Amino acid sequence: MRTPVFAANWKMNIGPHDAAEFMRTFLGAYAPHMDRTVIVFPPALSLCAVAESTRERADIQLGVQNIFRESRGAFTGENSAVMAKQAGATFALVGHSERRQLFSETDHETSLKCAEAVRAGLVPVLCVGETLAERERGETEAVVLRQLCAGVSELDPSQIASMLVAYEPVWAIGTGRTATPAEAESVHAVIRAALRERVGSDGDRVPILYGGSVNEGNAASLLSAPDIDGVLVGSACLKPDSWTRIVLT
Ligand code: PEP
Repeated sequence: MRTPVFAANWKMNIGPHDAAEFMRTFLGAYAPHMDRTVIVFPPALSLCAVAESTRERADIQLGVQNIFRESRGAFTGENSAVMAKQAGATFALVGHSERRQLFSETDHETSLKCAEAVRAGLVPVLCVGETLAERERGETEAVVLRQLCAGVSELDPSQIASMLVAYEPVWAIGTGRTATPAEAESVHAVIRAALRERVGSDGDRVPILYGGSVNEGNAASLLSAPDIDGVLVGSACLKPDSWTRIVLT
């Protein structure tokens, strides 16, 4: 049995001051539920503020939205996995489509970042997903498998079995157009099969999240699909009340 995961990607929103306020409201409305995992991915600058607000709430996990492939050094402006861990993160998003599209992050780079996350003691959440053009050309499966295999290429089987994968079709991110549960499930099943091929039955332990215009109206139906183990939410997690309703799905 995989515990459902509710992950909030704040992207470049909610600075440290507003983060403390957000978390006060959210934690006031959401009592701990041990039957689900809640992960918040604030901007790196807000990590410490969110860590401080969740000090008494072991049920809330934190993650960093991006890390650099190296652990330290002359890389002005970058954040390392080691520093994110020190700031309170347990998870690291790797290969989000905005990193791939806006910052030219390659498959190879995602493999180095997954490896660096694991070295630093963070759990990578590898994001994969096809563009609309790729979907229309019938390349969804090939793209997702290429991104998945490249992303995990530096990890050993036990590290793969301990990570998370997020299927985020690019055409559904921030567009209001969600994959139907059946569309998402068919890709999740492909990811599950690829994980099983790599790590055997331990592949069944890996939570596979769906992301792309998830909101309080569609979360439950997506989560009812057998291989959709959680949701990664962007726009709809930026208001404490809608985020609370999603987490209480
Ligand atoms: C995301 O960027 O991870 C995301 C899922 O965004 P949205 O929910 O806005 O589509």
